[in-house]
Amino acid sequence: MKKISIIVPCYNEEKAIPILYKELLKTVNKMKEVNFEFIFIDDGSIDNTLDECIKIAEIDKRAKYISFSRNFGKEAAIYAGLEAAKGDYVTLMDADLQDSPKLLPKMYELIVKDEYDSVGTRRVDRKGEPVIRSFFARCFYKFINKVSKAELVDGARDYRLMTRQMVDSVLSFKEYNRFSKGLFSFVGYKTKWLEYENKERVAGETKWSFWKLLIYAFDGIIAFSTVPLLISVVIGILFCFISFITILVIIFKTIFFGDPVGGWPSLVCIIFLVSGIQLFCIGIIGAYLSKTYLETKKRPIYIIKKSNF
Ligand code: UDP
Ligand code: MG
Repeated sequence: MKKISIIVPCYNEEKAIPILYKELLKTVNKMKEVNFEFIFIDDGSIDNTLDECIKIAEIDKRAKYISFSRNFGKEAAIYAGLEAAKGDYVTLMDADLQDSPKLLPKMYELIVKDEYDSVGTRRVDRKGEPVIRSFFARCFYKFINKVSKAELVDGARDYRLMTRQMVDSVLSFKEYNRFSKGLFSFVGYKTKWLEYENKERVAGETKWSFWKLLIYAFDGIIAFSTVPLLISVVIGILFCFISFITILVIIFKTIFFGDPVGGWPSLVCIIFLVSGIQLFCIGIIGAYLSKTYLETKKRPIYIIKKSNF
């Protein structure tokens, strides 16, 4: 019998976990043809998330938990889950039921019958989301798809079912700065996208503020593209060209009209502009350097404090 591992990253989800487990059982009990394994990753929660996981593990042998020594972030939780999963198929699911377990049978069918390597989910609308956030999200997807080899689908969630082969491929990327959305696409394979409407979370609140998302987006771009490093080259060439033209204009005006260049305000503006652009470009280089720095330290991606594996 084949086995599906369900990985659930949980950060302060004490209220959501019991509801999720109940919902999971409904679906799992219908899928008699497969075995299941539930892996709850407690990402350093400060509420009773771990106790909820332990409670479930005590009554259900299929339930496993891994508890981190502190909050390492969802990416670390995903990685830990993928490493621990033993199933022939592996799925990632949020704890808040925004990723409905009801889709699982359909996803499994697509993978088994239609021989997809992965079935992902994407939301078709951004209802209930602040306008500015949607705007930036769209810009992010447009930009990253232009500058990187990883093709990111707008609205794609982390909720997906994958074959063992694909999971092993994702795990073969040992990088510290993990951007799973990019990795899932970068490894290739055939992915089928299921569309569904966005849902409110059942309990608790989102852990993603606007700033956290913005930083996450930058991390994604840096992890999957080196194009921003070329920005300074392009701007540099452009500025050389502009200054060459203005030098010619000034020489021409001075020779034929005896007209000296007027005033310091224009000079100050130019100095501000150029030094601003220089700092911007140094910042981009710094961003790549800092990621390289963290990568070379080879720090562990997560630290386990307690687990029943
Ligand atoms: N999560 C996590 N570590 C974190 C932040 C979030 O494990 O540092 C988990 C969280 O418990 C949830 C999932 O990641 O199961 C998605 O988080 P959330 O629902 O807050 O994100 P959203 O759905 O709003 O994008
Ligand atoms: Mg959520």
